This record gives sequence, structure tokens and C-alpha cells, in this order.
Amino acid sequence: MNKETPEKLARHTPMMQQYLTLKAAHADMLLFYRMGDFYELFYEDAEKAARLLDITLTRRGQSAGQPIPMAGIPYHAVDGYLARLVKLGESIAICEQIGDPATSKGPVERAVARIVTPGTLTDAALLDDKRDSLLMAVHLDRQRAGLAWLNLANGELRALECAASALPAQFERLRPAEVLIADGLRGDCPGLDPMRVAAVRRLPNWHFDAPAATRLLAEHFGTRDLAAFLPETQDSAENADLFTLGLAAAGALFQYAHATQRQAMAHVSAIKVETTGEFLRLDAATRRNLEISETLRGEPAPTLLSLLDTCATSMGSRWLRHALHHPLADQRQAAARHATIAELLASDSERALHHSLRPIADIERITARIALRSARPRDLSALRDSLAALTELRALLAPLQSPLLVELHRQLTPPPDTLSLLQRALRSEPAAVLREGGVINDGYDAALDELRGLQNNCGEFLLALEAREKERTGIASLKVEFNKVHGFYIEVSHAHTAKVPDDYRRRQTLKNAERYITPELKTFEDKALSANERALALEKQLFEALLDNLTPQISALQGIARAVALTDGLNTFADAARRLDYSPPEFQSIAGIHIESGRHPVVETQVDDFIANDTQLGLARRMLLVTGPNMGGKSTYMRQVALIVLLAHCGSFVPARIARIGPIDAIFTRIGASDDLASGRSTFMVEMTEAAAILHGATENSLVLMDEIGRGTSTFDGMALAFAIARHLIEKNHACSLFSTHYFELTRLAQDYPECANVHLDAVEHAHRIVFLHAVEEGPASQSYGIQVAALAGIPGRVIRDAKRRLMALENREITLRADDHQPDLFAAAHVPPPAEIEPHPLLEALRELDPDALSPREALEYLYALKKRLNET
Ligand code: ADP
Repeated sequence: MNKETPEKLARHTPMMQQYLTLKAAHADMLLFYRMGDFYELFYEDAEKAARLLDITLTRRGQSAGQPIPMAGIPYHAVDGYLARLVKLGESIAICEQIGDPATSKGPVERAVARIVTPGTLTDAALLDDKRDSLLMAVHLDRQRAGLAWLNLANGELRALECAASALPAQFERLRPAEVLIADGLRGDCPGLDPMRVAAVRRLPNWHFDAPAATRLLAEHFGTRDLAAFLPETQDSAENADLFTLGLAAAGALFQYAHATQRQAMAHVSAIKVETTGEFLRLDAATRRNLEISETLRGEPAPTLLSLLDTCATSMGSRWLRHALHHPLADQRQAAARHATIAELLASDSERALHHSLRPIADIERITARIALRSARPRDLSALRDSLAALTELRALLAPLQSPLLVELHRQLTPPPDTLSLLQRALRSEPAAVLREGGVINDGYDAALDELRGLQNNCGEFLLALEAREKERTGIASLKVEFNKVHGFYIEVSHAHTAKVPDDYRRRQTLKNAERYITPELKTFEDKALSANERALALEKQLFEALLDNLTPQISALQGIARAVALTDGLNTFADAARRLDYSPPEFQSIAGIHIESGRHPVVETQVDDFIANDTQLGLARRMLLVTGPNMGGKSTYMRQVALIVLLAHCGSFVPARIARIGPIDAIFTRIGASDDLASGRSTFMVEMTEAAAILHGATENSLVLMDEIGRGTSTFDGMALAFAIARHLIEKNHACSLFSTHYFELTRLAQDYPECANVHLDAVEHAHRIVFLHAVEEGPASQSYGIQVAALAGIPGRVIRDAKRRLMALENREITLRADDHQPDLFAAAHVPPPAEIEPHPLLEALRELDPDALSPREALEYLYALKKRLNET
């Protein structure tokens, strides 16, 4: 529909010509075409919108001999529809009437006034308060990937380069709302599955160009080049081509954001390159498995975030979400947060701080809207009130002494004059929209006061006029009034028509009365109405000027927003520490994890009596093999160790009596059998892919959790794999590992490796019920829980006895796993079918009989062809 030739276009009505031309320029978005009080969609857009939004699809007249499918949305309800569409990954071009309907011949002039895409939202009505909405661009070559992402709602632009294989982890960490990728990129981008990223937009290849990106960004930042922003290696000539992928992505990203905003984006003032090593590495599976901000089922609660988030502001909530996903690799930084929390608790400040943070509005997003010039009157009044509220907050922080709080106290100072400017300029409760006035304060601008004076005097003038006319005409019921359609008038009931003086001109006849105007009233009306119009225009100008005045303060306001978020976030950690009885963790320089009375932060809030457990891992004790019955608490125990380590690095106190943690660079988990249906991989394939990533990536400083590895395949396969994986972790990775398994045979690893220890969880039978003790004890578990549980569950005695006999028989077959199993006893243990039962493959037979030395090169080649042909036939 939108690739009409000029001749075809000419067959359409003038309005549809206008529509189709606009649509052609925004072919890959829905076009909202403003007509009066509605936004209309036509043709395919109408059909799509009707389907997605469940609105009525109608038809409108005809154009080019065809009826036009149409669907409409009332303009006052547009935000709700936009929010739904962007959630579905759609982008929308909003086309407004810009001409004057009264004077235009043909259709009113229209233009696209704004473009809404999932990753470029800044409108309060469309954004989720508690999470960031990121636009991301990805560029790839064979092995490497460059990423750039922009949070338009706060102006943060970041980039990094990583191995292409690390992309899924990056998507999981950043969860972009919209991803830009080069059109010419062949094959798929790893990790970019539609379940996780709803909106993927392909852009022409040339948008991804590093030199152009450098020029574009340097010009925007007003710098000569980007040297100050890029990693240090950039300076040396031999590394000059470093970061080209990241830059290419940043360029495409910036250009796209600019095109959607059509504004200078003054709040984007730097590009920060993230270096690997800033944060603990968490692969995609670990983020999901630890249920940091989403349960395995994809729900927001109960998770670590839902448990901890009692933030007073939405900036704090967003900081907390980010912090939990970005545990700091630098233990000193995390320790500085612990010290802060300790001081907040010692000074008993949390409640008062929380209280003084509550009235602070979303300064971060308001600032972005000031930069994009989309701020509304109430954004500015909220900013004013929030800046005023900083005084109380600063007073509470003033006596505190930990370095972070001293710094926050300093940063929370409003830029000079901004607060007083806002106080002078704005009414205490300005109107929601500028269009209707009532925004700028009295006394701020003399010209505005005068125009308003004219209107206010109106009332007095009209009362006086009414009294005079009553007297002059002797009509006691005479009224002077105003309405929007007819303006001012004098109303006289028909009964008194005869008494009306000559200078009354009839304006309107009603059933019971006549409405008149006099020359005096007419003059007054002209003055009053134009004063009103001029006042509205002037308010608009003054508001724009106010935005201009605020623009130089954008970076100061951003700094305040960050400081509020951090204050709120740290205070929330302090609140959690008190509320949930957490203790300060300690970092140590020697490898290992020492936990006394550790708890799982989420599970402990969901069961009545949570049993706390210890964990001891160190140089001489690298791996714990965790055994015990199903439902015994193995996964909970392993996750609690990971969560304590994670929380400590986020700067939070931890659910344990004592936690001493050595250097950690990454947390890896392989937990549970989650089917990755979205990517079409089987459970077992997922399991092995995740295990492979761990075996390749874990270092001696990594914490590795392996839960029931090998479950997804046959027993012996699985056991052999689990065994080999455990050995690799001990011998090659030297990682701190927790390895739970239902293959009891694996517990023998502890005999071969002194650095491997067995721990187990127990269950006991009590009053014909099985009771899980949830207490972690040294040594391997005993084996027979499965049958015990089955008996308790009511499986008939016969079956239980039979199962017990079978178990004994199996155990007597003595499956041995030896550490030096070059000849794996596992397979020698009579469970591999005897060779006679294997039907030999005919091709193998043929090869066996072949004597290569007896063949000429040509015969060899022919033989190869013949083999291949047979292979294709079998
Ligand atoms: P497993 O991995 O051994 O099958 P889980 O770790 O999934 O067992 O634990 C099963 C259930 O037992 C949990 O959902 C929780 O309700 C309870 N549980 C686990 N650990 C504890 C504990 N330390 N104290 C109390 N209840 C626990």
C-alpha cells in the first residue's frame, strides 16, 4: 500500500495522498493520523491495530476505487494505547495537524510530530516507574560483538565489546526494550530471541560505521575526539582500531535516538565504556536461576528484588534493580557500602531518611524531559518541590560520617538559583497542561500580570454593567453573562422585550428569552478575549524560557538524581538488614567462602522454620558434593550460598550470622531442568550448553553451582558425564564448587580428591510421615530415600518390596568410578550390551574388508564415491 507509484498515488483522494506520502516515510511503524479528536489508522495499519488493540475495524469511503479499512483511537486516550503497543514491540509515528483547518484548501497540513518506539520512551505515562527502558544497538563480526545502549529517560549512554558468545548474558543483564542491528548481518545474533526482546529493528549497514560514529558523538559532546571516553588502550597507535565494533554500535544507536526525538538530547553528555571486570560475571542462566528480579516462571515476585525493594522513590527502586544485577567486583567499593549501612543502622536513621525521601519525585526522568523539551508544567512543579525537600534530607545526612554519605550530602545540593527560579515562576499547583494557562505564577512577569488583570477585572465590570442596565431599563431580571460560543450577552426574558432600549442588538433567541449585545459590551468583549489569548500565548513563551533557563542545569540535576537514588538504595539495604536480620559480610584476601548460619533470603520468608546452615569452602576444600533426598533442601542450600556472595558484592548485608568471602570473579550456576523452549533446544542440550560454558569460563576464583547435572539423559550417560564434569572442575578449573547429585556413586570422589568433601541433607520418618531436616551435615547421604518416600506415598507393599530387592541387586553389581579411569569401569560393568547384539553396519563391514594399499588413486576415489552412494541409500 505504501509503495505507490506517482500515477497510482494520483488516483487517491487528496487526503489519502497526504496519508500515503507520510506513511511511505514511516513504512515500518504504525502511523497515527490525526483527524479532529481521533487518531486514525488506515489499510494494513488499521488491520494490525484492530488485532493488537482489540478495537473496531471499519471502512471509510473510497479511495482509488477501493474502500479504506480504518480504525480509530480517541486522542485523549492515546497514552494507554501507545503503552500497550510499545509493550508488544511496536513503534508508532504520530502525525498531527499543523495547518489551520479554517484557512487551508484541501486537507489540513499534517506532519509527524513524534515517534514512539519501545526503546526511546521518556513519557511518564508510558514508562514503568521501577525499571529502566533501554535502547540497544549490537554490531558483530565473526567472534566479537560491540554493544551500545542508551537510557533516554536519564541520558546514560554506555558501550562495551565482548565475545559474540557472551551476548546472551548481556541481553539477560540489560534486558533492552528495543535492539538495533545491521541489516546485512548474516545469521542470527546469539541470544536475541523474541521471548526476551520484543522489538528488533534492522537498520542499513552503513549506519554502523565507527569513523562516522566518532565524528557524530564528538560533535555532540563538543570534544575533538572520543579519547577521553574510550578505554585507555585507545591512546596507543597500535591499538587504534580497538573498539570499532562498540563505536559502530554507538553511532547507529545515537543516530536512531536522534531521529526519533528530533531534539538535541542535551542530557546525553558522555559515553561510558564498561570494562569487563567491573562487575562479577553472571551468565544468563545464573541471573535466571538465582531469581534476582524475576522468578523462573517469569514473575516479579517472590524474588530477591521484590523482597528488598522498599525504596521510597522510583529512582531508588531502579538503582536497586541495577545494583542486584551488577555485583561489584571491587571488594573495597562493596565494603564502602557495608560501612555506610552500618552507620545508618548505628545512627538509627533509616526511618527518618525514608520519610524524607518519599516526597522526592522522579528528578531523573523529569530532567530528561527538560532536555528533550517535553517537560510538562507539573514536571517542573514536582522538580521544585523535590529540590525543596532536599533540605530536610541533607539535614539528616549532615551528622553522618562514612565517606559515601559525606559525598552524597555534598551532591544533594540544588544548583544555585534553580529552586528560587522555579518557586517564583510556577504556581503552587499549576494546571496539568500548558494550553489552558494557569501555570506561571502571578508576580513573575509584569506583562502577564497586566493581561490577567484585564480578565480579573472582568467580573467587577460585568456586575457594574448589569446594575446600570437594570436601572436604565427597569428590568429587574436582566442578566449579563458569558458563554464560550456566543461570548458576552445581556439576557432579557420575552416578557420584557418591549422595554429593551434601541442600542441593544439581538444576538440569539431562546425559548423564553432574547440575548443582546451593546456597543459597550462588544468593546469590552474584544478586549477581554484578546487579553485571554495573549495571556495564554505569553504563558507558553514564559514556560519555554523557563525550560531554556533550566537547560544549563541538566548535568547538575542528573547528579542530584543519582545521589537521591543511591541514598535511597543504601538506605533500603539498611532497612532490609534490620527488617530481615542480616549481618555485615567481611571480605578476605584468601580464596574461600566461610558462612555460619546462612539462610536463603527468599525461601526463609516463605517457610515457618527455616534451618540455617554453615558453608565452608577454601583452598583445601574446593568442592562440596551435596547429597540427600529430593525436597531435602539441596537447591535451596546451594542457592543461598550464591545469593549471600551476590548480596555481599552488591554492598548489602547478608542473611547469615557470619560470612567471610574471599576473592570472587564470577558466579556460575547450572540448576534445575528448565526447558528453553524459546530457542528450541532440548533440556539436555541446554544443560550441556550451560555446563560447557562453566567448564570453559570458571576460574579458581569462581563460585560454581551444579545442581543434578546429567539428569536429562540415561542413567549411565548422565552419571559418567556428572563424574567427568566434577573432576574437571576440581582438577582444571579449581573453582569453588557446590555439586549436588542424586548419583550416589559420585560421593566416592571425596576419597580420591582431598579437596572434595561430602555433605548431605537428611530426612527422617516420623509418625508415618517423612520429615526433612534441612540441616546440612558432613558426609554422604544414605541412599534409600526414594523407596521410603514411595512407601509413605502409599505405593503398595508388594511394589516396595520388589523395588528394595532390585535396588540390592543393582548395588551388588558394584559400579566403581575411579579417578584414573582411562578404562572406565563404569562401562565395563555389564550394562553395555554385548557386542553380538549389535548389528554391524554394512559400510563398516565394507571398510573392514578394504585393503587401501591395493588400490590405485583412481580406484580409491571411485570407492569413496561408491561408499558415499551407499551411505545415502541407507
Ligand atoms: P531439593 O533441591 O533437595 O529437591 P529444595 O532445595 O528444592 O530441595 O527444597 C525443597 C523445599 O524445602 C523448599 O521449597 C523449602 O520449602 C524447604 N526448605 C529447603 N531448605 C530449607 C531450610 N534450610 N529450612 C527450611 N525449609 C527448607
